Amino acid sequence: MAPVQLYDTTLRDGAGQEGISFSVVDKLKIAQKLDELGIHFIEGGMPGSNPKDIEFFRKAQSLTLSHSELVAFGSTRRAKAKAETDANLLALVDTGVKVITIVGKSSELQVTHVLETTLEENLSMITDSIRYLKAKGLTVFFDAEHFFDGFKANPRYALRTLAVATEAGADCLALCDTNGGTLPDEITGAVKAVRELTNVLLGIHTHNDAEMAVANTLAAVSAGVSQVQGTINGYGERCGNANLCSIIPNLKLKMSIDCLTDVQLAKLTEVSHYISEMANLIPDAFLPYVGSSAFGHKAGLHVSGLRKWTDSYQHIDPAQVGNQQRVLVSELSGKANIIYRAKEIGFDLPLRGKEAQKLLEQVKLLESRGFQYDHAEASFELLVHRAKPDYQPPFELVDFMVVIEKRRRPPTKRNLEEMLSEAIVKIKVGVEIMHTVAEGNGPVNALDQALRKALLQLYPSLAQVRLVDYKVRILEESIGTESQVRVLIESSDGVKEWRTVGSSTNIIEASWLALADSLEYWLLRQKALKKPSTK
Ligand SMILES: [Zn+2]
Repeated sequence: MAPVQLYDTTLRDGAGQEGISFSVVDKLKIAQKLDELGIHFIEGGMPGSNPKDIEFFRKAQSLTLSHSELVAFGSTRRAKAKAETDANLLALVDTGVKVITIVGKSSELQVTHVLETTLEENLSMITDSIRYLKAKGLTVFFDAEHFFDGFKANPRYALRTLAVATEAGADCLALCDTNGGTLPDEITGAVKAVRELTNVLLGIHTHNDAEMAVANTLAAVSAGVSQVQGTINGYGERCGNANLCSIIPNLKLKMSIDCLTDVQLAKLTEVSHYISEMANLIPDAFLPYVGSSAFGHKAGLHVSGLRKWTDSYQHIDPAQVGNQQRVLVSELSGKANIIYRAKEIGFDLPLRGKEAQKLLEQVKLLESRGFQYDHAEASFELLVHRAKPDYQPPFELVDFMVVIEKRRRPPTKRNLEEMLSEAIVKIKVGVEIMHTVAEGNGPVNALDQALRKALLQLYPSLAQVRLVDYKVRILEESIGTESQVRVLIESSDGVKEWRTVGSSTNIIEASWLALADSLEYWLLRQKALKKPSTK
């Protein structure tokens, strides 16, 4: 099949998701990342509707993009007005980008009920706007809003809007399932009807309200569409837009449709995680292809199958999308999981049955004390390392003390009470003992600060490690304030995320264990990464 153009609208439609707000700097960084991935078109925003997007397009002129073309988005001219003086169209031209996407109505009911103008005037608005932009020498894509709903209610009028857009010179007609309620069969039928009408390049823009956005996009491609619009991680208003992180590998690996090179495809997981960081959202572990659980195996039977034949329980090789297989370790799992995981992290001596049995018993013992390694693979890795007789930890805890104090502020600072936490940490690095004190807004924060204060003197690059998630669970088996608590910490260095666990009847100790594991794990990995270059 013919190649497919990838059109990303994370910066415009994706930013419509509840809780997402990108700054101009974020948007520039994301655009750069999408270019690295090899996305063909990046929709940067709506300059006619907000000053932030005007600033984005101004600053984007200094970006060096090697694969992507920036696109500015706006609507057709206002009813009963002239295209030449329409503020929104002028703002689009002012961005200086070469590709413009114009959204116009394709549904009769939307024209009469929402736009409140005549069907003829809507057609003129489409024609005038496209002609105006084409006369400026620009490439113009037409987003046919509510196309599929419009086609269902009045196919003649919906097709008419596309016919006038074609006559006016549109370079692509993107059919939109704006309300996201269409099913794949309906998409196929409508796209085929359009294909008979025009030879212009067709695009598809779907929303996920019926959880069909990806399926609908693929159905449209099979029916003759060659531009797909979507967002990274499926971000978007309501239930989101079509998820490019699923569409891209489906096109390339399942449908053999060219859209990215193999090397670019292998960046997909990294790009997905990078953009969720930018959106200040925890990467969704359960996303197909790019989620950290997408290739996770827990059941002992599956793992013993995987050892014999890697593809026995996975639909693709995770490396193709830059992801990796993860074998989860838990008390439910068998010896096979332990052997597999230990091997994966390069445990020097191949674990023989007996040694694996010993490690499995230790895991089970710790799990009975509240530790859980399913989602704390970094802590598990440390467990394996610590089992080695020659293991040298990058630091060791000697002792710590945390003071929590409730203080009354001086009257000048209003009569407010404040909580103050202070931690004193003593650690041993090699033969050296380091002693640090730090304050924090809570006891865990104070401990974190004090520990970092000590370690940063020796390992300055540790500054890039951030705690991205902190969860406390009270374990159901125990009662009241005597409860065993489990702390799960997720950390990131901006490139990779890892998870650690701590458990204790004391929440501070549980937090400390997870925190110390997180930093120890990162330092260990840095050491391992550096090894080949120092020889
Ligand atoms: Zn949309």
